Amino acid sequence: MSNDRKKEGELLREKLMYKPKNGYARLNGEDKLRIHEYCEGYKDFVNAGKTERACVKLAVDAARKRGFVEFKRGMKLKAGDRIYQVNRGKSAVFAVIGSARLDDGINIAAAHIDAPHIDIKQNPMYEENGQCLLKTHYYGGIKKYQWPAIPLALHGVVATKNGKTIELSIGEGNNDPVFTITDLLPHLGKEQMAKSLADSFPGESLNVLVGSEPYIEEKLGKDNVKLNILKLLNDRYGMTEEDFLSAELSIVPAFPARDVGLDKSLIGAFGHDDRVCAYPALTALFDCVNPEVTAVCALADKEEIGSEGVSGMKSKYFDTFVEDMCESLGTTLRECYEKSCCLSADVLAGMDPNFPDVLDKRNAAYINCGMSLCKYTGARGKSGASDAAAELVARMRRIFDESGVIWQMGALGKVDQGGGGTVAMFMAQRNIDTIDAGVPVLSMHSPFEVVSKLDVYMTYKAIYAFYNEKK
Ligand code: MN
Ligand code: MN
Repeated sequence: MSNDRKKEGELLREKLMYKPKNGYARLNGEDKLRIHEYCEGYKDFVNAGKTERACVKLAVDAARKRGFVEFKRGMKLKAGDRIYQVNRGKSAVFAVIGSARLDDGINIAAAHIDAPHIDIKQNPMYEENGQCLLKTHYYGGIKKYQWPAIPLALHGVVATKNGKTIELSIGEGNNDPVFTITDLLPHLGKEQMAKSLADSFPGESLNVLVGSEPYIEEKLGKDNVKLNILKLLNDRYGMTEEDFLSAELSIVPAFPARDVGLDKSLIGAFGHDDRVCAYPALTALFDCVNPEVTAVCALADKEEIGSEGVSGMKSKYFDTFVEDMCESLGTTLRECYEKSCCLSADVLAGMDPNFPDVLDKRNAAYINCGMSLCKYTGARGKSGASDAAAELVARMRRIFDESGVIWQMGALGKVDQGGGGTVAMFMAQRNIDTIDAGVPVLSMHSPFEVVSKLDVYMTYKAIYAFYNEKK
């Protein structure tokens, strides 16, 4: 073959064939420098934001420092204004008002700040065999076997009858005690290990060990360990056992985010799903100054249990916020929504070399190939997917490519392998063009999920480009 012919073939290959490439091969110098610094900020966020309430507080504190003010119904608004609103302490919306009219639509990045974990029951505390334990009910899709025999922290609030809300956070400081769910020793685990993974840890066996020293002064005989723990809680927080009835307490892994790999290219942490998209959505909005289109960041609760409840993405709180904004700027919600666009910023399964068979290798998302767009989620014939239109995918390709975003197209799993959903379908139901996009994750929904720093940074860059879209 002549050299000319070979060269022509190479050019044609470059021009005609699509092949996702590793992001590091395409990274410019400036981005390469920023990745690690950006991810240090993210690690701080995910370490301090172990619950949805904690994430809301962190987000609002950071927003206020950057000039965001609380939006109240009827407030006058103008281009460049930076506003936020908190919904019952568990979800929040942030916006930067654009120069275009609201009936030209808004660009929304919607992420969720709840993560699969274990909740404490309403009447949780009991003593058995000289140990004090808490009964639990898991929240979201966890693999129960992953939670015993690791250090656990306790976070949340206790609302008392007199209207006070007590905040608890135990297990994060170096001198804090931690908690744990005990597991069976292998020597006696023959029957347990013969069961399926799904059956080997019944939900009612995920009881958390919280103490063992009896309160001996009383010599009551029964429940002295429990009495001692209740006294410690009462001394420190002023609460009684009955106050658990109106408490929201969560058990989460007690360890902080850590760099993974000798090259420190990855981050392992609890709660990447979906704080690893919430942080980019929020920080991209912070950096968004005088956009043309009004930019909105929604941080939702309850995605992991179907976006239900008053703080989930199905709730009218989001519509009320946008409608109030529309009223302040002289338009209607329906005119605003029909021109709006939403990036449902949520994580996607990354290709895992330990489990390659569940993903279609030609359509999977890969670690370090950048933020992953996902046209549809759902299961069994796309059921439950909002399935973004081809024109919307093209619009995103244009936005990302023009801004030097490293991104890829991904799909959740092989056809008929399983599936899942995000907030996308609930945004689409509002008559908003919606598409999924986010960071590929390994060990998703485990106590120690893994993401790549390059992908986290590129998700920031992608959402920033989306907020700054020129129409
Ligand atoms: Mn998610
Ligand atoms: Mn999830």
